[in-house]
Amino acid sequence: MLQPLLLSSLLQRAARHAGDVEIVSRRVEGDIHRYTYADCHARAMQLANALTACGIQPGDRIGTLAWNGYRHMELYYGVAGIGAVCHTINPRLFPDQIAYIINHAGDRTLCFDSSFLALVEQVAPMCPQVQNWIMLCDDTACPATFKVPLQSYETFIGGHPQQFTWPIFDEREAAVLCYTSGTTGDPKGVLYSHRSLSLMAYASAMPDAFNLSANDAIAPVVPMFHVNAWGLPFSAALTGAKLVMPGPKLDADSLFELFEQERVTFTAGVPTIWLGLADYMRRTGKRTEVPMRAVVGGAACSPQLATSLRNCGITAIHARGMTEMSPLGTVCSPSRTYADLPADDRARVEAKQGRAIAGIDLKVVGANGEELPWDGQSAGDLMARGHWVIDRYFGADKCALQDGWLPTGDVATIDVNGCMQITDRSKDIIKSGGEWISSIELEGIALMHPEITMAACIACEHPKWDERPLLIAVRRPDSTLTAPELLAFYGGRVAKWWIPDDVVFVSELPLTATGKLQKLALRQRFSQHFVELVHLSRTPAG
Ligand code: AMP
Repeated sequence: MLQPLLLSSLLQRAARHAGDVEIVSRRVEGDIHRYTYADCHARAMQLANALTACGIQPGDRIGTLAWNGYRHMELYYGVAGIGAVCHTINPRLFPDQIAYIINHAGDRTLCFDSSFLALVEQVAPMCPQVQNWIMLCDDTACPATFKVPLQSYETFIGGHPQQFTWPIFDEREAAVLCYTSGTTGDPKGVLYSHRSLSLMAYASAMPDAFNLSANDAIAPVVPMFHVNAWGLPFSAALTGAKLVMPGPKLDADSLFELFEQERVTFTAGVPTIWLGLADYMRRTGKRTEVPMRAVVGGAACSPQLATSLRNCGITAIHARGMTEMSPLGTVCSPSRTYADLPADDRARVEAKQGRAIAGIDLKVVGANGEELPWDGQSAGDLMARGHWVIDRYFGADKCALQDGWLPTGDVATIDVNGCMQITDRSKDIIKSGGEWISSIELEGIALMHPEITMAACIACEHPKWDERPLLIAVRRPDSTLTAPELLAFYGGRVAKWWIPDDVVFVSELPLTATGKLQKLALRQRFSQHFVELVHLSRTPAG
């Protein structure tokens, strides 16, 4: 029979088959909230009734500015379940970017956590078409007077029945909308269908991907506003796994406490989160009682990070995704082909972003679009296609594909086993005297130095070579490491002409709204570094 793949069926299944399994949330109020999939389903149905009663139609967009928590989960399912679109917004963006996104998406209802009240106050005057502002709290926490009329979520849904018949519609209808982080130009919207999210939930749960089951307790540290917390609210419901939502407290101390208390077995987040956790566990000597797997994605997982996590009893799973791919594309899962390799060689393979999961196809192409061999050496533009890859941005007339493939903006190699490794973002690659230098590889080497905690390598304008690499690094607090010492560390690790021309030590590196290195800001600040050095050396003060 043909049964459309609809997100409502995932939660319905969890309520029927894992009805007593817990969803635990650390709330913005600071306390821990517990209920079950059956409760979540009942309240998602209550929300569906409330939305329908206030005239929300299929296709309408409902914005959310919220951390990972049970009410956000109800919005995911309640909104999408009636055929409307849950538009998750990254609260770490600037207010005018948030207003741009709300207006571009045409949100007429916006639901937000109480911790974003001040942000909403700034954004609301710029978004006149939003008719309903709903604060995710009960009436006692809702301010009596505010710039725009507000109501509490509990009042909004309260009084509506907890029974609802989920409508059946075309699985290709939109369910969720998410905007790219917009580090270059305006953010672009990516619309996910019920079909694409359901298929990704199935594929990501498979053994060679995240290997999820009802025995897991899954803690998505990656926010629900960062590409649907990488699909975990869907794959957790699909498998009936316990769900542990960390809310706004993403510091290592709070995460460790939650992981330990809820006996978390599986988690996911960007490298900065895991660097902090590994450092905390190293300093305090604390260990979780339960073995844990942590997906490291959004940026490269260095072998050092994988080792630090392993020393803490956590298995790193390196994965690569992007907003345009819902986001999951590859997972570096252990495979027979390298299980018996010596530790160093295995670490080199584990540093790769991994093989395409079922449902995704990848290739690398050269300058003229010709497919490059899978030899682990030939680097080219990474192209993707598959069931959960976009074909155009939200509201765009133009298709984003080239010959049926999405250009990812990454430069990568694929080896004989199909294992992909990103060597750079095409816009970050350093072109020195016409040759390519991988900024990621140079950063990886800096991070191998025991006194370096963060590193970014950027292309700087150079009078002779067009561009040369500059390393910008953060030392450990007590370190006295000098630039020449760090540069000497590159000796024998890369070709001589790859070694950065200089090092600038800083106290911290700028991160984007999704926790990645903000190289654009670094380029703006340092792109003239070598030009200025040449200039200075010519002045009498030299
Ligand atoms: P976003 O759409 O903001 O999630 O960014 C997607 C981009 O993040 C990708 O195109 C990659 O450049 C980068 N990225 C994601 N995962 C990884 C990874 N595991 N290693 C290196 N880069 C990654």
